[in-house]
Amino acid sequence: MLKWLDKLFARSAGATTEISATRVCPECGSRLIGEPAAPDAAAGGSCPNPDCPPRVRQRVILWASKDAMDISNDTALLEQLVRRGLVLDVAEFYRLKVKELAALDGMDPDRAKVFWDAIHASKSRGLFCVLFGLGIPQIGSGEAEILAGHFASLEALFAADFQQLSRLTGVSEAMARCVVRWADDPVNRKLVRRLRRAGVKLERD
Ligand SMILES: [Zn+2]
Repeated sequence: MLKWLDKLFARSAGATTEISATRVCPECGSRLIGEPAAPDAAAGGSCPNPDCPPRVRQRVILWASKDAMDISNDTALLEQLVRRGLVLDVAEFYRLKVKELAALDGMDPDRAKVFWDAIHASKSRGLFCVLFGLGIPQIGSGEAEILAGHFASLEALFAADFQQLSRLTGVSEAMARCVVRWADDPVNRKLVRRLRRAGVKLERD
């Protein structure tokens, strides 16, 4: 009886080791954090790397989407830009040249020009679209609209602290916390400066 129990424990211990050994992100190799979704899952938890390829793709696709900057909904094309290292953050859209775009798979000079024009037209979309397009956790289009109603510019929003934000009508503590956390990240601050320099309008209409 005891031997049988020992064997059982040995087996489950082995299984546990196997699970933790495979708990790395299949995309970037970072160690996953949090619990596996199911005890028998081969991998689980979430990847902590903000530059993990699927997350980069997600940010680029959101920025380009209709309700955000309305650049393109051609997912394959946007993924190609990320895969080729041409757009690794959303400010890089504004550095693309027509020639680079025309060299992409499935592109021709006419389509490249249309795409380039859409990129440059997106500069005037304004605060609400930028705010939604940045993909700040907890900030969907409804929340972006509320925040854009309270602030005249992105910099003014990011200068507000948690207390100021959470006092505003329609702004939950979770929203306030996510905005403050996002704005505190030096990488994000730099991104906002680069968007400003690229001529992207960060003010409300
Ligand atoms: Zn990853």
